[in-house]
Amino acid sequence: DDRIQLEFKVVRYASKDRLLIARDITQTQKLQRMRRDFVANVSHELRTPLTVLRGYLETLTTESDPDLWRHALPVMQQQSQRMHLMIKDLLALSQLETGDKPLLHRPTDIPRLLAAIVEDAKRLEHFNSHQITLQILSDKWLLADVDELRSAISNLVFNAVKYTPEACEIEVIWQVEQNVPSISVIDHGDGIEARHLERLTERFYRVDSGRSREAGGTGLGLAIVKHVLQRHNAALTIDSQIGQGSRFTCVFRKQIG
Ligand code: ADP
Repeated sequence: DDRIQLEFKVVRYASKDRLLIARDITQTQKLQRMRRDFVANVSHELRTPLTVLRGYLETLTTESDPDLWRHALPVMQQQSQRMHLMIKDLLALSQLETGDKPLLHRPTDIPRLLAAIVEDAKRLEHFNSHQITLQILSDKWLLADVDELRSAISNLVFNAVKYTPEACEIEVIWQVEQNVPSISVIDHGDGIEARHLERLTERFYRVDSGRSREAGGTGLGLAIVKHVLQRHNAALTIDSQIGQGSRFTCVFRKQIG
């Protein structure tokens, strides 16, 4: 909520006089609330797969039915993979946020990077006759941390695959227009309702939790994208139309050569 929270303190000075000191603690309280919510979210996200794993482990210790084992093992594998991805994304996000990891700004061949990401996307489990076209409209390079940029753009392209139906068209565009470099990932899927757009980059915010989990999502992908872009002095814009699809654009400041 928008209320301002104040903390009051009365101090005595010059023997009889009193001084009332008011301190604005709105920001501190907000930060504490965010930290509490975050810890609660992380615990919940990790506990869910762990509960499934423990349940199966308990059953399997007393059961030798091969059918049960055949069913249980892939589920256990999937749940441990989910925990692994969650921890990986949490660590990545925490490193980005604390700024502990130094940025390695190097001249980066964006056309080559995008081509590699598109190839990786074709190997995703959810890749299902999707048509990905890569449009390289500029041969300029960017000064960037290639690993961070790869993780951000991969998240966008993989999301486009994960959240659209089979055979959907996806475009990845690299262009420099009026000196402004940008990478766009456009899909022609179902689109996202306008009321969600502002919150999409919040940690653990998902439009459809069931679908995100089923697609192997951690709910942290777009938060990572936002942080990486911030560290590159770049911004993410999201446009979407129900029934038409979504466009995620990374707008940079400077290109080189
Ligand atoms: P997740 O790990 O769940 O994919 P993200 O932070 O990457 O988390 O994305 C947040 C949510 O935004 C997703 O759960 C999904 O609901 C929605 N989303 C992201 N990209 C798309 C897209 N291209 N089309 C439709 N919905 C999307």
